[in-house]
Amino acid sequence: MDMAISNGIRRINPRRPFTLNADGLKRIVLGQAGDSDSSQVQIQQPSHQPAKPVRLAVGAVTTQSLLAVAHSDRGALDEHARQTVAAAALLADGATEVALLVFGELHDDAALLGADRCIVLPQYGGNLFAPEAELAALRALIEELQPAHVLIPDNGVAASDLGRRLGAAVADASIATHVVEISKSGLAAYRQQRSLLARRSLSHIILLEPDAVDARLPFLGRGEIAEPLAATLAAVGDKAASSSAYLDLGSKTMAASQMELDEADFIVSAGNGVDDVALFNSLANALDAAVGASRVAVDDGKFKRDKQIGATGKTVSASAYLAFGISGAVQHLQGIKDCRHVIAVNLDASAPMIKRADLSIIGDAQELMTALLDQVRQARSAEVAP
Ligand SMILES: Cc1cc2nc3c(=O)[nH]c(=O)nc-3n(C[C@H](O)[C@H](O)[C@H](O)COP(=O)(O)OP(=O)(O)OC[C@H]3O[C@@H](n4cnc5c(N)ncnc54)[C@H](O)[C@@H]3O)c2cc1C
Repeated sequence: MDMAISNGIRRINPRRPFTLNADGLKRIVLGQAGDSDSSQVQIQQPSHQPAKPVRLAVGAVTTQSLLAVAHSDRGALDEHARQTVAAAALLADGATEVALLVFGELHDDAALLGADRCIVLPQYGGNLFAPEAELAALRALIEELQPAHVLIPDNGVAASDLGRRLGAAVADASIATHVVEISKSGLAAYRQQRSLLARRSLSHIILLEPDAVDARLPFLGRGEIAEPLAATLAAVGDKAASSSAYLDLGSKTMAASQMELDEADFIVSAGNGVDDVALFNSLANALDAAVGASRVAVDDGKFKRDKQIGATGKTVSASAYLAFGISGAVQHLQGIKDCRHVIAVNLDASAPMIKRADLSIIGDAQELMTALLDQVRQARSAEVAP
């Protein structure tokens, strides 16, 4: 692998240097719109898009394929997995099919993800630990499609593990991990604790870090669901599972309130707009949610420092983030950028948190917390009642 920098003198910018989108590689600059440097683009809110064209022309014959592999969570791909499929779609030309193999159910629209053919193996959903079965199914699909490249999110969990297992299993395959930059001409990955940026041509197996690619595609894939192929792969997986050395005894669900904030799946968070901390804590308890707070709420002594979320606090990645009375300052939003569903309660409809939220309630935090706590208690007692 070529090392772009080998003497350690030049400083490596620890931020993602580039992201790949439909216009090619672009540098990302966090800052105000209207920056004088025209070579740099700003991150913008997605605007309303007209209907998108399908990437492959009608009747186009594909002569090769790129394969993206992802694990779904409750039927959806997370942003990192979406970026990985988008990377394949952006690398593909007019004669290249983008295939997507999903372990777990898929309720997302495969065409919107950029996939032309989608193979879904729902039996591998949840937290099932079946590395050998997944590897066998993946290898069978590679055998079938002979993809030029296999792209997998380097997410530190199942997908990373599967990618490395694949690299070890296929003797002559080249593999690149921790890839932070990718284009048709090659890729780049950080090495030695991010002190070196190594560049090379595209490997056969590519494990992508988050944010190397913009998942918002200007086109659609064909979105065909390949059920017969999925059935064949499922049979291959089952066969491998029957002789596996591992036995999955299942997983246990813990209440979010008992987990570290940065691992919690459900967080209820308070800002300066919350005065009644006792009521807030009762609500979090009733919901079995982890507690988070803005810096102002922490500085006021309402919460301990380890509850602070944001640039100088914790970065969280909950499926649901319920924010009471938090304005959504950029430093706070930085800490919740990986949260899937944000629900905001705020008196001010123009607060940045309201713009970030998927669901907003313009109202008084105290009233909302009281009403919600009542509802939760009623629902809980109905559950307990015979
Ligand atoms: C270097 C630096 C690092 C920082 N790091 C962090 C960080 O890690 N995390 C962080 O959170 N902040 C951080 N900050 C601070 C950040 O800039 C904001 O000041 C802070 O996030 C604001 O907290 P807040 O939204 O709770 O309070 P405010 O800005 O006071 O906002 C309160 C919000 O509550 C709403 N509200 C008021 N009353 C009610 C009510 N009764 N019902 C409903 N809504 C109501 C208001 O409309 C308002 O939107 C940092 C700042 C700097 C300079």
